[in-house]
Amino acid sequence: MKAKAAVTRENARGMAITEYEVPDPGPDEVLIRVTMASLCGSDLHMWRGEVPWFQRAPGIQGHEMTGKVAKLGARRKTDNLGRPLREGDRVAYAYFIPCGECWACLGGTSGCPNRYRTRNTITADDPPHFLGAFAEYYVLKPAQWIFKVPDGLPDELVAPVNCALSQVVYGLNQIGVWLGDTVVVQGAGGLGIYACGVAKDMGAGRVVVIDAIPERLDLARQFGADEVIDFKETPSKEVRVQRVKELTGGAGADVVVEVAGVAGIVQEGLEMTRVGGRYLWMGNIVPGLKAEIIPHDATRQPKTIRGVLAYDRWVIPRALDWVHRTRAKYPFPKLVGARFPLEKINEAFEQAEWVAGRGSVARTVVVP
Ligand SMILES: [Zn+2]
Ligand SMILES: [Zn+2]
Repeated sequence: MKAKAAVTRENARGMAITEYEVPDPGPDEVLIRVTMASLCGSDLHMWRGEVPWFQRAPGIQGHEMTGKVAKLGARRKTDNLGRPLREGDRVAYAYFIPCGECWACLGGTSGCPNRYRTRNTITADDPPHFLGAFAEYYVLKPAQWIFKVPDGLPDELVAPVNCALSQVVYGLNQIGVWLGDTVVVQGAGGLGIYACGVAKDMGAGRVVVIDAIPERLDLARQFGADEVIDFKETPSKEVRVQRVKELTGGAGADVVVEVAGVAGIVQEGLEMTRVGGRYLWMGNIVPGLKAEIIPHDATRQPKTIRGVLAYDRWVIPRALDWVHRTRAKYPFPKLVGARFPLEKINEAFEQAEWVAGRGSVARTVVVP
């Protein structure tokens, strides 16, 4: 049996629909019928050429997705919580595989530098072909984390769980959010909106979100933000820092979260963080972007700065559980945008670029 995949090619901007033979899963693999993929901000960075694609050409890209078990390998009988897996079960799964044999893995740090080794060392022309989201099938490799999806969660809410939401859940866990904390979120994009809701539910007393687009600030409020700072109405860093100080009795925020992906705002975040506070960096994923900071502001006013990439194995089930429990409390459908069939993947990217340029956080989704 053959199935379709959208494939990036050498020296060409768009993707082409190609067919590959669907492989039988190896003993520790799972063949998944992808039911939905979403376009993430990092996919758009790759589309623009700012960051290399996951898989060199000809490559199947995309990483946020969900699907159903099509065929289980002989030794894969359960998900990573020991729950029986059967054909037809809806699943969410990590898009990377930590190697377990590097200093990051040995020390328990996420973001293993070898986490894409099964995907970026081959091309889509090499078996098992299906190692990306923009295709009808996906081959889950040995040791790759997989979890059953709770009933009643639509695919639209599940597709971004393995990247955007898990990133936020893990980042906030690592930086530590505690009862009554004031949490400042720099940037109300996809990660920022999730960060508002997750921080509140982790016990934050007050969430303050900063962005330049009123619609995003509105959505952040609907996801639990208590205060918003409109970048356009407060055109200087000093005014914005002052506003955070006013809201915190002069101290500054317990936790600041950078999810804007703008290098130049890290000094501002540092100044918003109180002495003894924690500053989480997750947004600046483009290599080479520079910013000027004043190191004094984190040493003689001691603060923790922590960069976080990817996540640990416990995160996906917690993230799924959070969406499931809060699906009536927060307007998750507002995070979902236009829907395209796989054949229209290039239009999906054009559309995602266009709405992102207008500041929308609604994710474009592809239904293979
Ligand atoms: Zn993503
Ligand atoms: Zn590793």
